[in-house]
Amino acid sequence: MPDPLTIFDDRLTVFGAPSRYVQGRGILGRIGGFAAQIGTSAVLVADIHILPLVETGLRQSLETAGIPLIILPFQGQLGPHTAQRLSAALGNATPDIVIAAGGGRAIDAGKALADLRGLKLITVPTVASNDAPTSKNYVLYDENDRLLEVRHLARNPDFVVVDTALLAGAPQSMFAAGLGDALSKKAEALACAAGRGVTMFRARPTRLSGAIAALCYETLITNGIEAYDAAGSGVPTEAFDAAVEAMILMAGLGFESGGLSVPHALTRGLPQVPGVGAKPHGFQVAYGLVVHHRLLGEAFPPALVDLYRHTGLPLTLGALAGAPIEPHHLVAVAQASIAVPHMLNFPRPLTTQDLVDAMRAIEAA
Ligand SMILES: [Zn+2]
Repeated sequence: MPDPLTIFDDRLTVFGAPSRYVQGRGILGRIGGFAAQIGTSAVLVADIHILPLVETGLRQSLETAGIPLIILPFQGQLGPHTAQRLSAALGNATPDIVIAAGGGRAIDAGKALADLRGLKLITVPTVASNDAPTSKNYVLYDENDRLLEVRHLARNPDFVVVDTALLAGAPQSMFAAGLGDALSKKAEALACAAGRGVTMFRARPTRLSGAIAALCYETLITNGIEAYDAAGSGVPTEAFDAAVEAMILMAGLGFESGGLSVPHALTRGLPQVPGVGAKPHGFQVAYGLVVHHRLLGEAFPPALVDLYRHTGLPLTLGALAGAPIEPHHLVAVAQASIAVPHMLNFPRPLTTQDLVDAMRAIEAA
């Protein structure tokens, strides 16, 4: 059945969410019980590099629950043929649950397989670098790592299993990326609601998701620095737990039913600048939030400046690229971003020149 929410209807508001979000230290050891609630056999799509971290615990827990497991390590390209490739690797096996474990790409590869085969989905983030684990959308890239397409599952994941002990061992720079991806969600939801904005459900934003995005922001302003200091240590703290909930759960609910705006639209054009395409999504979004505030004519909030400085998030395009910026770079970014639909989720219509002027002013400041 095609998703009936594929045409924008401004009389609708829609709120989507995972069926269950479970966060805790060592919670991965209980995944078998969750899987048994929704199916009888599973395939694990896991980033090949993190597979050794999760395989034993996951396998034991599923075995105890009587859930047979097939493992498909994931590596490399996430493109239009990824789902077919993974499906072919399954051969005649017919698992009814996909467990997708890893960072952004392995999670999205698992979503693509679940989408193709119509399977249940459990996401297991192993790094808090973005909010993809809670959402229904997934992203495909071309051979040059340029964003090709955003696709949508019929539903959000059945379970999101967030083991904070595992996440606390992931690199600190990836945690900073997760902060960047989450901090923008309040401003983006506000801008979407203020204009005639459209959410990921092709509907008007819900008030609830705006409130969630605002709580996400407050939680990170309060706990972000302390949480960042714990990241990479392998030992989660209370501030770390709070930040993870904000970065994965609140940020995901905030954007999906609240709408995106300039910071995420800019990620389409930013890879035009040499060196930027290889930077994590969250670092690109973090810079996009600086542009967003500039376009609104607002000073960048001092609490955000402190958090950016502490965690190494970029306050300028030069800092994001790690090299000086040429004027033609700004034009290329603006031209490649302006037609992205999220750009319309703003209190006023934006032009290419508006974007260039805002970016230039930031570099000059
Ligand atoms: Zn994002």
